[in-house]
Amino acid sequence: MKILVIAEHKNGALSEATRELFGLPFGQAEVHAVAAGEGVEPLAASLGQLGAAKVHLIDSPVLADGTGESLDQAIGQFIEQLAPDAVVVAHTPLGKDLAPRLAAALDAALATDCIQVNLDGGEVTVRRPVYAGKATAEVEFTDDSLKVITVRPRTVKAPEPDAARSAEVATVAVELPEQKTALREILAGGNERPDVTEAAIIVTGGRSLGSAENFSVIEDFADSIGAAVGSSRAAVDAGYRPYRDQVGQTGKVVSPQVYIACGVSGAIQHLAGMRTSKHIVAINTDPEAPIFQVADYGIVGDLFEIVPLLAEAAKNRNGN
Ligand SMILES: Cc1cc2nc3c(=O)[nH]c(=O)nc-3n(C[C@H](O)[C@H](O)[C@H](O)COP(=O)(O)OP(=O)(O)OC[C@H]3O[C@@H](n4cnc5c(N)ncnc54)[C@H](O)[C@@H]3O)c2cc1C
Repeated sequence: MKILVIAEHKNGALSEATRELFGLPFGQAEVHAVAAGEGVEPLAASLGQLGAAKVHLIDSPVLADGTGESLDQAIGQFIEQLAPDAVVVAHTPLGKDLAPRLAAALDAALATDCIQVNLDGGEVTVRRPVYAGKATAEVEFTDDSLKVITVRPRTVKAPEPDAARSAEVATVAVELPEQKTALREILAGGNERPDVTEAAIIVTGGRSLGSAENFSVIEDFADSIGAAVGSSRAAVDAGYRPYRDQVGQTGKVVSPQVYIACGVSGAIQHLAGMRTSKHIVAINTDPEAPIFQVADYGIVGDLFEIVPLLAEAAKNRNGN
């Protein structure tokens, strides 16, 4: 079986979500990686150390901005040349844009947001959450068509790079037609904390925070443990947090190592965005709050008392 990993990168480094893809159980498969962009050559060494047997570089100034349109055309042409059995990309904003384009252009089978990928003896099955995370569907690919699979970040652990490994490197020439869209400008969000989709730990606050100012309790705790700050939709709707922090069905889907929900009731739409977190901690005054049904650890109490104590304990442990 031939598998192609699409490498996502920023500022000359592979994204963590791409690194994690090499932790999938590829078994005896022939693992290829493709990096498209401008000046992508330095990525080849990292991809080789993570486990790619062959790295294909599509280097073009047209790809510098990496829009879905240009990447789809470039990588699509390359996939036709390579003819892999499956293409794997992280379920990030880029992957979500690119994978359906590729599947449509190449008449491939598509499975998105997978939380398990099985590549057993040539048969490919995946598991993906459905009904806002209330159930998990097992999906079988039933014929030999190309399979395009997006994998939810933090589904698997990235392997340690092996400095002794290196990949065969090839450059790929593609012909790109005139583009219909162009990236004009990226307006930085001004958030110095990690994004909720990338963080290993998330501290989320809900409506109970009562004001944007009171979120400083959550921020202080998050900063003491290097976490991202998340928000329920109720807190976003009330104007306490920006939409980019919203976790849930109409916000972001996250799967961190630790998710700490402070004063969040655990509505089904919120759970849809965080129930695949590895460890869930809930702090809530109401012992009957639904969030406790999915929590591994629960504290019944007032977040305004408990969260500062946790922040203080973390700071003491850190020595500051
Ligand atoms: C179509 C649709 C999509 C939606 N998408 C999303 C989504 O993406 N994300 C999302 O979050 N919601 C979403 N919602 C909204 C969702 O249904 C809930 O209304 C929302 O999640 C509630 O937010 P909350 O838990 O902050 O507030 P509440 O439900 O009001 O819960 C507040 C909780 O705080 C507790 N509390 C109060 N004071 C304290 C205190 N001092 N200390 C500790 N605990 C305290 C209370 O006991 C309560 O459990 C969606 C709804 C719809 C209809």
